[in-house]
Amino acid sequence: MNVTSQPINKFVIVGGGTAGWLAAATLGNIFKNHSVQVELVESDDVGIIGVGEATIPPLLDTLAGLGIDQVDFIKRTQASFKLGIEFEDWHTKGQSYFHPFGTLGASIDGHEFFQCWLKTQAQGDNTSLMAHSPETQLAKANKFFLPFEAANTPLAHTKYALHLDATLVGQYLKEFATKIGVKQTIGHVEDVELGGNGNIQAVSLTSGQRINGDFFIDCTGFKGLLIEQALSAGYDDWSHYLPCNRAVAVQTENVGETTPFTNAKAQDGGWTWRIPLQHRTGNGYVFCSKYVSDEEAIATLLSHVKGKVITQPRVIPFTTGMRRKAWHKNCLALGLAQGFLEPLESTAIHLVSKTLALFVRMFPDRQLSPVLRDEFNRRVRTDYEEIRDFLVLHYCTTEREDTPFWRWCKQMDIPSSLQHKLDFYRASGSLIPGVEELFQPTSWYAVLTGMDVMPAHYNSTTDALESNKLQASLNSGQQAITQSVNKQPSHDEFIETYCRAPAP
Ligand SMILES: Cc1cc2nc3c(=O)[nH]c(=O)nc-3n(C[C@H](O)[C@H](O)[C@H](O)COP(=O)(O)OP(=O)(O)OC[C@H]3O[C@@H](n4cnc5c(N)ncnc54)[C@H](O)[C@@H]3O)c2cc1C
Repeated sequence: MNVTSQPINKFVIVGGGTAGWLAAATLGNIFKNHSVQVELVESDDVGIIGVGEATIPPLLDTLAGLGIDQVDFIKRTQASFKLGIEFEDWHTKGQSYFHPFGTLGASIDGHEFFQCWLKTQAQGDNTSLMAHSPETQLAKANKFFLPFEAANTPLAHTKYALHLDATLVGQYLKEFATKIGVKQTIGHVEDVELGGNGNIQAVSLTSGQRINGDFFIDCTGFKGLLIEQALSAGYDDWSHYLPCNRAVAVQTENVGETTPFTNAKAQDGGWTWRIPLQHRTGNGYVFCSKYVSDEEAIATLLSHVKGKVITQPRVIPFTTGMRRKAWHKNCLALGLAQGFLEPLESTAIHLVSKTLALFVRMFPDRQLSPVLRDEFNRRVRTDYEEIRDFLVLHYCTTEREDTPFWRWCKQMDIPSSLQHKLDFYRASGSLIPGVEELFQPTSWYAVLTGMDVMPAHYNSTTDALESNKLQASLNSGQQAITQSVNKQPSHDEFIETYCRAPAP
């Protein structure tokens, strides 16, 4: 084999938020015994966004892949556990549903569980789908435990994620990355130097220092200092599908039990989040400025929080959408510099990890193969579009008509890809997952049934199952979940014995 490679010798990461330090940790870990240099430049003038505190299960795989001890991470980021999201008032005021991680029930004689459940509903049973979800039942009971300690029970495959303190996560990853050889430079980038081929050659700091590299990773937040301001990669604005364009965030003292789930409550012009951590609670209101002013949003948020407010409300503007090319020239945009989809399903930090994993899989050399780059950009776009469609689903299926915002959502034009998925579901009662999709059918079924979108019929192959036996099988599965859930400790008891963080 005649392999001529021109390896990248130096990566320069600009930006020291979660995206920057996760990139530094990932690349630093790969090259820790190697001569490839990884340098991260972060400004002492511009802070990090400091929100982004709910995650999804793949984060735990990312941490494990880096060799990070989960208990140590939890203690040092004041993390609590998350089994899913409680959605209040989305369909109509007063109605709520739960989107759990994990799967629902087990297939019966080769028939998909959801079809079996639909058949029992058609037979007149009204047990909710979520009665068959271990995560939902644990969450409702405010309980938690580690799935691997419940082998041979219906809870053995329970999936969970973490709620965490964004600032402490940044500090943790910084310490991790610098220990394995990543060079940290504090300085404000004021100029990006391009070569004749349009590639970035170096960044210059206000101090006069010039930092050159072979490949640059833009983690500078919404503005995209390298990818947009220097390289003009372009941005696709998706506000016509997801019109919320501002958030106000505030932290409060904890009150009552620590819930093992995120709360997302629909409001007049958007929705509020509540994310419980060990030492405090994060709260926010994501809203659309066409319908709600900053002052109204702050007032709504403050009237909904539970504990004593401990920070000033902070308003954060954003534009939903994504960079047209996440990888352009010799620059990869990550995190907020790459794009932003509102935090309804806590997907942003995951997109950072997933983009990094894809980049590592397609790792370029200095020739920057357009074949790799184009496939990479296509895959990143597919990820964004998949999540965008799933988020739009939460809005467009509303039956609310009590405010202009919800009337708009009920009438909105939706992406054709989502329309196809909805049409297919309505006609067949099932969903076809795409390649490497984040949200598997269980997630779609949870939101669809939660929003009362039911298919025309169940898959009639389940008629091969004898009705009474099928009902008995579902009943016993559900009872087994309830019995196992009852034996578990409360979320707070579990944290106390397993991973209580020191007081801040
Ligand atoms: C309202 C809101 C809620 C969110 N909630 C969630 C959530 O629940 N879950 C989730 O996964 N994600 C969430 N996110 C997204 C998440 O916060 C971000 O994806 C994550 O924090 C990564 O941010 P970042 O590192 O890209 O940018 P930032 O944190 O903004 O970091 C930017 C970095 O760039 C540096 N920088 C900027 N300019 C320069 C310069 N000229 N020179 C040198 N350095 C510079 C800054 O100093 C900083 O270090 C939320 C985002 C918002 C806006």
